[in-house]
Amino acid sequence: MELLYKSTRGGEEKVTASQAILKGLACDGGLFVPENIPQFTTELKAWKDYGYKQVAYEVMSLYLTDFTQEELMECIERAYDDKFDTSAIAPIVEADGAFYLELFHGATIAFKDMALSILPYLMTTSAKKNKVTNDIVILTATSGDTGKAALAGFSGVAGTKIIVFYPKNGVSPIQERQMVTQKGENTYVVGIQGNFDDAQSGVKKIFGDKELVALLEEKGYQFSSANSINIGRLVPQIVYYVYAYLTLIREGKLNEGETINVVVPTGNFGNILAAYYAKNMGLPINKLICASNDNKVLYDFFETGCYDRNREFILTASPSMDILISSNLERLIYRIGGEDAKKNSELMNSLAGKGSYSITEDMRKQLEDFAGGYASEEEMEAKIKDLYEKTGYVLDTHTAVAASVYDQYVSRTGDRTKTVIASTASPFKFAQSVLKSIDPAYDKLSDYEQIDVLAKVANVRIPNAIEEIRTAPVIHDHVCQKEEMVQEIKHFLGI
Ligand SMILES: *Cc1c(COP(=O)(O)O)cnc(C)c1O
Repeated sequence: MELLYKSTRGGEEKVTASQAILKGLACDGGLFVPENIPQFTTELKAWKDYGYKQVAYEVMSLYLTDFTQEELMECIERAYDDKFDTSAIAPIVEADGAFYLELFHGATIAFKDMALSILPYLMTTSAKKNKVTNDIVILTATSGDTGKAALAGFSGVAGTKIIVFYPKNGVSPIQERQMVTQKGENTYVVGIQGNFDDAQSGVKKIFGDKELVALLEEKGYQFSSANSINIGRLVPQIVYYVYAYLTLIREGKLNEGETINVVVPTGNFGNILAAYYAKNMGLPINKLICASNDNKVLYDFFETGCYDRNREFILTASPSMDILISSNLERLIYRIGGEDAKKNSELMNSLAGKGSYSITEDMRKQLEDFAGGYASEEEMEAKIKDLYEKTGYVLDTHTAVAASVYDQYVSRTGDRTKTVIASTASPFKFAQSVLKSIDPAYDKLSDYEQIDVLAKVANVRIPNAIEEIRTAPVIHDHVCQKEEMVQEIKHFLGI
């Protein structure tokens, strides 16, 4: 049976999965959601010996119903290959009683690779299916990790171009270096004078700029999005929660049917939303623990039912979570509001207008699956140090926020349900902050000395993604004001 997608704002006809992937964002400014969340019809244990790719096929075929088996298999084969440094793709490490689901074994050593290695293929396949002849221009705002992962995914993919905007002073030195050294004629990287929300709002506005869109069409281009609002990002992210559960069963760490809790270090609410979808499909997940850093807008939302972005934007050592507008939350709001597009639009208009909205008591009752928490910089650093001293295992700053929030959750609730913590980046990506947490004396070392020290301390090989950028030349050095994003796009496309 075909699964169609509808906009959370209600102003648009239903579309197929491939059309939703091509469009990214709906024309009415809403996000595409499936008409209903598919349910597992097979008993999960039947998949327990499946490899990552097989699980990916089983899960994704439930959502991307207009892809043929061959099309979807080919996308999966091309995505989850030796770009990943382990055939497990998403291995699990047990440390101090928690299961860390390592989502950072792809090309850019952060969890965005899990979805962005497959999105280019989903997108070019979608274009073919819909007889699109325009080149696809991927427009992306990044808080650091999406940018590089999208660049790596799309670089050299025929029929696509990719433009990435990042906050010039809001990403880590390694993140910036990874982006500005990106090869590929079809890639373009611009730093903007502003924060991530400025970049993201700018990109959203450009998608709605009818004049520009018409000009692109005339020149044989059309925009799409690789941001986590694209359903083609969300669906591949559901896979690893299912795979993690199956791995734990296979390894005898979990009994069949036993429930788990999941902790996710959260920014744009994409990763945790994927876990929520997995739960709603029938994966035995109890609590979804949403971990924030000092930008704790989501924590406050779960506490009070009021989402309020009117607050100071704080730069932290977990920059991919420095976000005050968590775009994917709209999909949850829509769902807990009874899929009432009018109500959802009102709330989102209120967010766009006065920067806040409050949900009803009825809606709040449906948030019982979630627990919010946040960790300060000190708590995050203490967690890295503690876990390292206890076990030798080294977390990155984002994962450490999640791990710290998990500790707080356990002491608050006494809930000892077995727990999977999404480990979203390699510590090498944030080597400076990680080492400083272990011993402030390391702070004096240069960037590359820190990498070498970290390899010794953590007893792991330096990832290729890091080795590469040591010597790579800077290719992209454009910087613009947030009002100049359109000009940058026109410049790159030569229109
Ligand atoms: C993007 C990112 C996050 C946040 O994920 P969302 O899906 O935006 O909530 C957390 N950690 C790392 C390392 C990231 O790159």
